[in-house]
Amino acid sequence: MRYILFQNATLLDCRSAEPRYPAWLLVEDNVIREISESPLKAPQGAITVDCKGKTLMPGLIDAHMHANLFSADLPGQTRQNLPSMIVIKCLEILEDTLLQGFTSVLDAGGIDAGFRDAQARGLIRAPRLQVCGHSLTQSGGHADPRLPTEITPPAEHYFAGGIVADGVDAVRKAAREELRKGVDYIKIMAAGGCASPADEPDTVQYSIEEMSAAVEAADAVGKIVLAHCYSPRSLRRCAEAGVKRVEHGNFMDRETALILKEKGILYCPTIATYDIMARRGEEFGIPSYFLRKMKIANERALEALAVAQEAGLVIGSGSDMVGPGQPFKANELELQSRVMGPAGALLAATKTNAEILGVIGRVGTLEPGKLADLLVIDGNPLENMAIFQDRNKIQIIMQDGKFIKKID
Ligand SMILES: [Zn+2]
Repeated sequence: MRYILFQNATLLDCRSAEPRYPAWLLVEDNVIREISESPLKAPQGAITVDCKGKTLMPGLIDAHMHANLFSADLPGQTRQNLPSMIVIKCLEILEDTLLQGFTSVLDAGGIDAGFRDAQARGLIRAPRLQVCGHSLTQSGGHADPRLPTEITPPAEHYFAGGIVADGVDAVRKAAREELRKGVDYIKIMAAGGCASPADEPDTVQYSIEEMSAAVEAADAVGKIVLAHCYSPRSLRRCAEAGVKRVEHGNFMDRETALILKEKGILYCPTIATYDIMARRGEEFGIPSYFLRKMKIANERALEALAVAQEAGLVIGSGSDMVGPGQPFKANELELQSRVMGPAGALLAATKTNAEILGVIGRVGTLEPGKLADLLVIDGNPLENMAIFQDRNKIQIIMQDGKFIKKID
């Protein structure tokens, strides 16, 4: 047995956002064995960590990221890089995401189940992963890699973007193919987007019948569909098609939020990506069409979150960071806290995300019996949600009982 005892901590277990002080937490191998508000005796040979003045909390979860999107010019990425380079960049981004304090993530379209399984087998340094594989998209849709001037895709290789599938039969087959390869979710593009050169965010994509075909294929094996969408119209069409989780939703209105609520549809906002691109996109060198659309989507992002919260939706936390935004995923917490308060934003990125991803039995809160995925923060996040953006303040990152980072 290997023991690590965290002592004198301010504990945010994220079952609630009520801090407990002082607290002791004992890790045995890769599992949290005991938590106590009175001193625990260190077992023989235990490593002790003094956490006085520091916060002990669960590892963060990003419920919407893209490990494969590293370039400022996303359509150009597959034109300029061989698949091997893209895989190497994916691994770099995954490791850096872990070092930002995210011990679990959902890749919302891009990487395949091999990355997930490699992490689970300890072959790569990465957050625990769930994957969607290729996103399903219509011709000219958000994940169609072609520019308006092109007929054939720029590259035939695996990372050339989404799978273009039109019509009920083709969508059903594409969904089944992704499921065959072991994905955890099916991701569909139900609206235009910002990074795609040939569409607009407030449009709708895919017919309800096409989306229903994807839902049916996923549901047949107990899985759900995640849909990329922005406008009330696209959100409602997703609801009608049986989609169980919607992403972004920046233009959501109250009536639509109530429909989502009634159908029990999960909502994952991704405000950080719009915020950083609106502020720094020019400096990052993103294409002008991308910058223009990100600014439009950014204007309404916090308002949509407020509407969703008022309607009582289950709200997760995603970053959707791409290209030069990748190092800044934790900005989502600070942005969401402006609407949901620090406690709300913190619980969204821990407990609620774990519930949404179906992993709450193992991670997302600090409780005896759960896996030892945890952070030691030099300070109190509830007093300063921007603290996660300062990597020096994240003094310890532990995943599965192992120190990923430890500043003494
Ligand atoms: Zn995304």
